[in-house]
Amino acid sequence: MKNMKIDDTFVKDVLKRSEQKTTEQLHKILDKSDKLEGLNYEEVGSLLMNKNKEIEDRIFKIAGKIKKEIYGDRVVMFAPLYISDYCVNKCTYCGFKHDNEFTRRKLTQEEIKEEVKILENMGHKRLALEAGEDPINCSLDYVLECIDTIYEMKFKNGAIRRINVNIASTTVENYKRLQEKEIGTYILFQETYHKESYEEVHVAGPKSNYDYHLTAFDRAMEAGIEDVGGGVLFGFYDYKYEVLSLMLHNKHLEDKYGVGFHTISVPRLCDAKGSSKDDYKYLLTDDEFIRLVAILRLAVPHTGLILSTREDENIRKQLINKGISQVSGGSAVTVGGYLKREEGGNQFEVTDGRSNEEIIKWIIEEDMVPSFCTACYRQGRTGDRFMELAKSGDIKNVCLPNSLLTLKEYSIDYAGEQLQQKANDIIERKIKNIEDEGILKTTKDYIERLEKGERDLFL
Ligand code: SAM
Ligand code: SF4
Repeated sequence: MKNMKIDDTFVKDVLKRSEQKTTEQLHKILDKSDKLEGLNYEEVGSLLMNKNKEIEDRIFKIAGKIKKEIYGDRVVMFAPLYISDYCVNKCTYCGFKHDNEFTRRKLTQEEIKEEVKILENMGHKRLALEAGEDPINCSLDYVLECIDTIYEMKFKNGAIRRINVNIASTTVENYKRLQEKEIGTYILFQETYHKESYEEVHVAGPKSNYDYHLTAFDRAMEAGIEDVGGGVLFGFYDYKYEVLSLMLHNKHLEDKYGVGFHTISVPRLCDAKGSSKDDYKYLLTDDEFIRLVAILRLAVPHTGLILSTREDENIRKQLINKGISQVSGGSAVTVGGYLKREEGGNQFEVTDGRSNEEIIKWIIEEDMVPSFCTACYRQGRTGDRFMELAKSGDIKNVCLPNSLLTLKEYSIDYAGEQLQQKANDIIERKIKNIEDEGILKTTKDYIERLEKGERDLFL
């Protein structure tokens, strides 16, 4: 089977055909998504084209329902770790672009340890490792060494248990080497699937090669990486085209490798050094953004949806109830930024600047369970085995208990008295939602063992 390609005419045709749907037809589509069956291209297109308020309300309602049914009341937590801001590319929108003049740096292994200590102290167990592209200053060997350093660190209360990696598109050989390090998800944003727009904003450097970037996951999966995370940086082209293209990409991976995206990220363009988002023509309104995330939830019910601190509290609040399953908290988007939350050198401007503890408290107040779980990947439930679990609906019986156990761990090890109380309250309430008696008993037993000092207990 061939590598990923976007058929521009096809995408535009689907969108055109999707325009003419009646309210009755749209309700039929929603009946289907209400049964968690996912959506085909034309159905996704039709919902994207919808302007009827009644339909929109139903989209939100179903998105909330899917989130609850498949993921339960959980929100998975992670934090980015920027290891190097050297970059040979000229992505017009990015603070790390080659033309920006500032003193660039990459972390030494000692500095990595400092950053990871701080992240661990915030309670994080799952990181997204981030770097600009520079084969000399930030070689793959360096990236692999950083991964080793992080996984080797053991703390009183545990360790970083999963490292997702967001580095430039590379060769099958290099992906094999990454895979050998037991990374979590390999994340790469397509930025935009629209070729002309892609070429307008990626003016020089290896990333300016649209096809090479678009086929990165083919190479990653060929190399044996099973969990890949896609994304679009919304603002470069019509969001409807982008969402449909994400669906095409997902289907391509499913057909060719048996499993689609493990996660989809939905970043929106922010201001950055040398770039104002207002210079871009396709910025989304908040309403459009919320709608598109909800439609993604309907379209790919079993794929994790990630929202970063690029969004403010209000948007994040709405979206954790409409489909988002993973959020970052307390993020620094500068190399060495946890040790020194410095001015300048940011890749982009963070909008939600709350601390991780504040985010955890907020999630609990939203009646959801912040989860630091990394069990699936450590139990070998990756790729299609994870999707089987998700599709069987059993994810709730595994993930809910694990989220409660990791929140318990967090509360004992990192939370102040008040937050500890809040965590205990929500654990007590949500544990009642575990349906299987055996699992309920094990979860209660594990909680007691955590209280007595054991750590890292999971199902
Ligand atoms: N350098 C690699 C790359 O470009 O694929 C690795 C990831 S880069 C450190 C992380 C992501 O940040 C990029 O994929 C891009 O989508 C996002 N980003 C860059 N500039 C941004 C901006 N101004 N606003 C929001 N996100 C931005
Ligand atoms: Fe470099 Fe990535 Fe920024 Fe582009 S988006 S300039 S490749 S760090």
